[in-house]
Amino acid sequence: MAKPATDRPLRPATLLVRGGQMRSNFDETSEALYLTSGFVYDSALQAEQTFTGEVQHFQYSRFGNPTVLALEARLAALEGAEACRATATGMAAVHAAMLSHLKTGDRVVASRALFGSCHWIVSTLLPRYGIQTEFVDGADLAQWEAAFRRPCQLVLLETPSNPMLEMVDLKAVCDLAHAAGAIVVVDNVFATPLLQKPMQFGADVVVYSATKHFDGQGRVLGGAVLGSRKWIEEVLQPFVRNTGPALSPFNAWTILKGLETLHLRVPAMCRNAAAIAQMLEERAEVEAVHYPYLASHPQYELAKKQMSAGGTLVSFTLRGGKEAAFRFLDALRVIDISNNLGDAKSLITHPATTTHMRVAAEERARLGITDGALRLSVGLEDVADLVEDIAAALDAVGGEAAPSRKPLGRMVVEETVAAVKAPAKAAAQAPRRARAAAPAPAAQRAAKGAVKAAGQEAPAGEMPAPEAPSRPAARKAPARRDAAGTQAAAEPDLFQQGPKRR
Ligand SMILES: *Cc1c(COP(=O)(O)O)cnc(C)c1O
Repeated sequence: MAKPATDRPLRPATLLVRGGQMRSNFDETSEALYLTSGFVYDSALQAEQTFTGEVQHFQYSRFGNPTVLALEARLAALEGAEACRATATGMAAVHAAMLSHLKTGDRVVASRALFGSCHWIVSTLLPRYGIQTEFVDGADLAQWEAAFRRPCQLVLLETPSNPMLEMVDLKAVCDLAHAAGAIVVVDNVFATPLLQKPMQFGADVVVYSATKHFDGQGRVLGGAVLGSRKWIEEVLQPFVRNTGPALSPFNAWTILKGLETLHLRVPAMCRNAAAIAQMLEERAEVEAVHYPYLASHPQYELAKKQMSAGGTLVSFTLRGGKEAAFRFLDALRVIDISNNLGDAKSLITHPATTTHMRVAAEERARLGITDGALRLSVGLEDVADLVEDIAAALDAVGGEAAPSRKPLGRMVVEETVAAVKAPAKAAAQAPRRARAAAPAPAAQRAAKGAVKAAGQEAPAGEMPAPEAPSRPAARKAPARRDAAGTQAAAEPDLFQQGPKRR
């Protein structure tokens, strides 16, 4: 039998490690993974009483699961919320929070600067069901005031916003919204529960993508909705129970393990992000840097009031538009091009052509998502390596087009290709159609293709790029290294020269 739990209030780091744990009779140390879709009953009567609610018993993992429950309890404790429901993705959380509360004839007001899919729900999905929606400039209180002159049932906002890190004054908007009869739903993904607690400013519901900082290691999708016990049980739970955005117990378990280090990862990522924001401000190639804790941020005072640190994301605008942005991205060697965020690995994206490509050009312009804008999710690498990577890529923007070199993880492909250079040349004489189908070198496909090309004919789409050049350093290097580039990292000279392969 486990020792009784303390009744002293616990601090966030402790809650992240221990919150919500329910040890089984086996007294395991780690959280148990209940990978089960259903549950059994001792008797027909117990089954009946479970369904009438007289007895507390798990029924089916779409309704609830012990591992998912442990995650929900941990997140609720951390947020200081009465209740939490975990969902399969962050978008399932946003969708369920909105659709469970709304009905035909209702009206929604949202800040314009939203995650792309949240923007789609408000602009496209809700109107299909006869729900009126209106966007406001989130930073402009006068626009919020004007929008609340008509009845409103729900407000959706994001602060800091994706991707340009604009802030919304939570206290002011929550007060206005409540006076208009609306509940306020805050997408708190960028701030994380460690840096900002929207409920302390009056938010009714907080939603997360657990895919981002909670897992934080690029493994699983997940989401969470937090609110009052009454709202979660009476409004949200019937919706999720019957529509089925349930989180897999395996993903819940992975996220529980991720949360154990959230209080170490997020502050470290914030420190790296702040250093990078400062470094970017000093560069002539950069037109503007957007980071809430930079004194140059137009809402710096608000950021200091609402958030305990500037966050893990930095956005910046390069002079020279899309061409400069693409040159910069292609010249990075450590930081990966990816639209995900909140990961241990630093990831960067060009919102205008990726995450926000479906937002109308006019709307993008209003949001400041210009062709030179980039969003960097800062990871846990040594900040000196990140700063050097960025500085070198900025140099490349100004000067010659950078020879396109691959980041760490792709080195193994380069080497494989170099090692089979002669067969690769033969492959270059393969039919034209096959060559046209050769994909950009997604690491594994290219590696496979290179191996195939070495032995026999490679199928279309699996060929190494024909012009694989010689790389003296690579040829000297041992043939085997792991895909993470661990060994390569110990031999920095391998990265200094890279072939053009694009
Ligand atoms: C990623 C993200 C979402 C959606 O989460 P998924 O887990 O990808 O469904 C919603 N809002 C913000 C701000 C996000 O970054």
